[in-house]
This record gives sequence, structure tokens and C-alpha cells, in this order.
Amino acid sequence: MTLLKRMRLWLALVAVRALVAILRRLSRGGGTLPGRVGLALAPELLTTLARRLPRGVVMVTGTNGKTTSAHLLGEILTGAGLAVVRNDSGANLASGLATALAVNRRADVAVLETDEATVPRVAAALRPEVVAVSNFFRDQLDRYGELSTTVDHVRRGLAHVSPSGVAVLNADDPNVANLAAAGRAVYFGLSGPGASAGASGAENADVRRCPACGGVLVYDVCQYAHLGSYVCTACGFRRPPPDLAVAVHPHSDGQELEMAWHGVHWRVPLSLPGRYNAYNAALAALAALTLGVAPDDVARGLAGAGASFGRMEALVWHGVDVRLALVKNPAGFNQVLETVAEDGRPKDAVMLVNDRYADGRDVSWLWDVDFEGLIPRTGIDRIWTGGTRGRDMAVRLKYAGLPAGRVLMVPGPPAAVLAAAVAPEGEAAPGRRLYVLPTYTALLAVRQRLAAEGVVRHFREG
Ligand SMILES: [Zn+2]
Repeated sequence: MTLLKRMRLWLALVAVRALVAILRRLSRGGGTLPGRVGLALAPELLTTLARRLPRGVVMVTGTNGKTTSAHLLGEILTGAGLAVVRNDSGANLASGLATALAVNRRADVAVLETDEATVPRVAAALRPEVVAVSNFFRDQLDRYGELSTTVDHVRRGLAHVSPSGVAVLNADDPNVANLAAAGRAVYFGLSGPGASAGASGAENADVRRCPACGGVLVYDVCQYAHLGSYVCTACGFRRPPPDLAVAVHPHSDGQELEMAWHGVHWRVPLSLPGRYNAYNAALAALAALTLGVAPDDVARGLAGAGASFGRMEALVWHGVDVRLALVKNPAGFNQVLETVAEDGRPKDAVMLVNDRYADGRDVSWLWDVDFEGLIPRTGIDRIWTGGTRGRDMAVRLKYAGLPAGRVLMVPGPPAAVLAAAVAPEGEAAPGRRLYVLPTYTALLAVRQRLAAEGVVRHFREG
């Protein structure tokens, strides 16, 4: 490194730390501004800081489960005694991370939730030790383009894994399993019989062709959607044997996961319900094991971890027992409804659909959700709909066969819908649970309202 470069880096670091100190005094927090200034002064700042991390950078990507998996991994690593830097989802990744790394001089490892489209750029700059890929689902087409484009982004990113690095891949998703890594690849998957081959089978339209040759894939086990154990009838491409195999034992307060990794077996209670969370936990566990964390620490970290942002949070609002979960695409919505179906209590629901940029402008994906098959199984009595596309949601439910009296459309912002649901004609609702299922920006609005009212969240309440 030339003297000039060294001076530039030093100057950038000093500037970032000074800005953070000033902003903190103004109680504006750290944020992305200091990092942005630092990167403007020295574009190589991020790469240099990332190289100094003893355990390197872990990137977590894929369509569903990024936030939860990254959260679980962060909990495991912190519990194992490592100093972990995390990115806040949504914040500008490069400048937010530059800020965090410049300030946390003693960080051991960075865990980064990374959107698929930005994986190549971030990986090229950071040379990650681990890139973990959860799954590929068709998301809103207007935002992400074709599934194959998304897969291609991640494939190009994997070429930048550090030479000593590892790709942590979902064996049960054909498109993920087919990713080749520059370095080593290890696989996680669910073992045992699948949950429901039939109920959500429509989503298999996402992937039923072999990613290697285009032939027809045949499944002998379906965990959910297109995830399971498959083989190509044309070229023989099949699910790789997982290094970490997870058997799922669901119960009323979550599930117990039975993990097997190279001859070591252990059981972990997980407070997060649903098969998709079993996958999230498997990804986090294998990424941690890959970084050298002991199975005991993996088990402890997972057991202690609660739900992260928007993933089935429990709270009490005006005396009503509320469960709050983000919905953003057909597979995710189906999984949430499957989880609701496992809850035997009397219940109502609020479905809030916005169509702002972050939600995806096109809400036609609602027609791919299996309301016809799932709503009758959930035991939901009444459904309030709202948000900028609350009418589309109500129409969708009508076509799913719900009588008009059970679907109540409420005009106005999400808070108004919530208020209507919590106090329907002064009816007290003892013992009833209210499932609130918003899209992304509607969730932000709901959370803002709850925060304004000082509502306390209970991550692990039963
Ligand atoms: Zn094939």
C-alpha cells in the first residue's frame, strides 16, 4: 500500500469516527452518513476494514428467510463469545457497514443480510468467508425479474467467496443446490417425511424443471412448496446429501429440531413455528458450524433466539392477544396461514396490503396464495382488510369463497383497520387471538403505531 493510500484510509477512518461521535451527541445515532463520507474519501475503506475481521464476513441471501436466518446466526455467534457486526435490513449496505466496522474496532465477524441483486457487488468488495443461500422463490416480478436472473446474481457472487471460504447451501431447493461455489460447498436440509405435498403444491410451478438440464424433476419428499427431495428424470441431478440434516417435531409453542452433523446429534427447542423457520435455523446452524462454533453453542444460541422483525411476533394491544407476521409473497403467505392453522384457538385476522415500492407495486401475487385451501383449515372467523390495496385483498377473499359477512373492508390507514378489528362493535374478545398480516410498508405503519402507544413486544410468549 502506498503512503498516499495509507493516509487516505487513515483520514477516512478518523472522519467516520468523528462524524459518529458528533451524530451521537445530537442523538441521531450512527447510520449511513459517516460511512458514506468515509467511502467518498477512500473507496477501499470497506474492503480494508472487512479484511481485518478475524472470522471474516458472512453473507446471508435468498428470497425468504434472510432476516430471520441472519438474526439467528447473529444470536448464535454472540452467544459463542464473538463480537458480531450486523447490518440493519434496508439500510444502505455499504455505507451502513463501513460505519459499523469503523466504529467497532474489535469486531470478530460481520453477518450481512444481502439482497440477491447486490450479492455480486458486495461479495467482490468483501471476499466473504461464508455465503449462505436460503431458497429461491418467485417474488414480485416487477422488482426482481425472472427467477433465473436472481439465481444468476447469486452465482456470480459465489465466485468471489474467499479461497478458504465456504458456500452454505439449501440442499432441498434445486436452484440453490445447483449453485457451484469457487471454494467448498456444504449443504443443509430437512429430513423425515414432508409436511404437505398437496396443500401448497401450486407453488411448485416456481421450480419443476431441472436447473441442470431442463428435464422434469420428480419429488419423493416435499417439505413445502418446491423444497424437498428430488431427482431429475433426464440427467440424474438430485438433492445432495446434507451435511446438516434437521428433523422437525412441531408442537404448540414452536418446534423441536433434531440436528445431525457428521455423526454428532443434538436437539434444539425453537420458539419460532413453521417449517420455513426450521430451514432458517438450519442455515444459521450450518453457517455457525462452518465458522468453527461448537454444536453446544449452536443449540444454546438457537434455543435463546426469539422472532426477529415481523416474523410472528406476540404482543398484547388494548387487551387483545395479537400475533404479527409479515407477508410478502405467495409462499410466505401460505406458510403463515399453515402456522395459523396449527393454532387451535378461536381467532380473527387483519390483512393489510399496500402497493408501495417496497411492497412491490403489483399485487397480483395475491391470486397465487392458496386461500381456497388454507383459510378453511385456519379456523379464522372474521377478516378485516385494509391498506392501499385493501379492496383487492377483500375481492381475493371473496373469490376464495368467503361469505361477505366475514370479510370487512376498512378504509383509512392500517391503524384504523387495527382499531376496527380490536373493538368490533364493542365486542370483548376474551380468549380470541388476532392475527395481523401486513405487507412490508403496512407492517412499518403498524409498528409505528404500536411504538407510539408504547406496546411491549413479547418475543417468546407462548
Ligand atoms: Zn436434469
